[in-house]
Amino acid sequence: MEKREELYSGKAKSVFKTDDADRYILVFRDDTSAFDGKKISQLDRKGAVNNQFNAFVMQKLEAAGIPTHFESLLSPCEALVKRLDMMPIECVVRNVAAGSICRRLGIEEGITLKKPTFELFLKNDDLGDPMINEYHIDAFDWADLDAVAKSRELTFAVNDVLTPWFAEHGMILVDYKLEFGVVDGKVVLGDEFTPDGCRIWDSETRAKLDKDRFRQDLGDVIESYELVGRRLGMTFEY
Ligand code: UDP
Repeated sequence: MEKREELYSGKAKSVFKTDDADRYILVFRDDTSAFDGKKISQLDRKGAVNNQFNAFVMQKLEAAGIPTHFESLLSPCEALVKRLDMMPIECVVRNVAAGSICRRLGIEEGITLKKPTFELFLKNDDLGDPMINEYHIDAFDWADLDAVAKSRELTFAVNDVLTPWFAEHGMILVDYKLEFGVVDGKVVLGDEFTPDGCRIWDSETRAKLDKDRFRQDLGDVIESYELVGRRLGMTFEY
């Protein structure tokens, strides 16, 4: 697989074309950002840890029948993925209240929801990723509604796989964000699943083990990502 020109550089990953029009290379960088890019830092080992964390989770999801764009690991910080037409939408499932739902609805952090919730956000840093619903998506033609419905179904299916898995290893999957794309008419999980895009707490101590450590200046950000990964059976190469 030959790496060709850079197509796009996001806040933490870059996307490169390859000699295969249907495959891209994702490069996970050490750049870390929060608050829609307002807080930025470089964290040693982050690119390698997140790339390998993502590969492990995507393979777990594939094995459970959830289609993902992941193809193979190419190097510590690089992965080969399928080219998807991404929808500009973030799908969030919450099991426990934290983050924006607490601010928005005045809910106390840490309350376990009676059942998981599903929320949609528009990917737009300038607007602070506003919350939207299917009517907005349809009215402004941001995505196909059947594809959004499938994304919701897959986002909940991911919860059914990952929540018990984290629990078996002494962790609570509080919430997470997923992004989907379409290839050959099929909705496929894209982007990444790493501690950058979810909240993970220790089951006993409820210590935060995810990007909230960066957002809230709690320290040991990447050490916590590595701890989560090792508990789930990952080994990391740098
Ligand atoms: N999230 C993300 N990218 C975003 C917004 C949210 O990965 O642009 C993740 C976030 O890490 C958390 C979940 O989605 O795991 C829910 O985020 P929330 O709506 O609570 O927003 P936050 O308070 O994290 O900004």
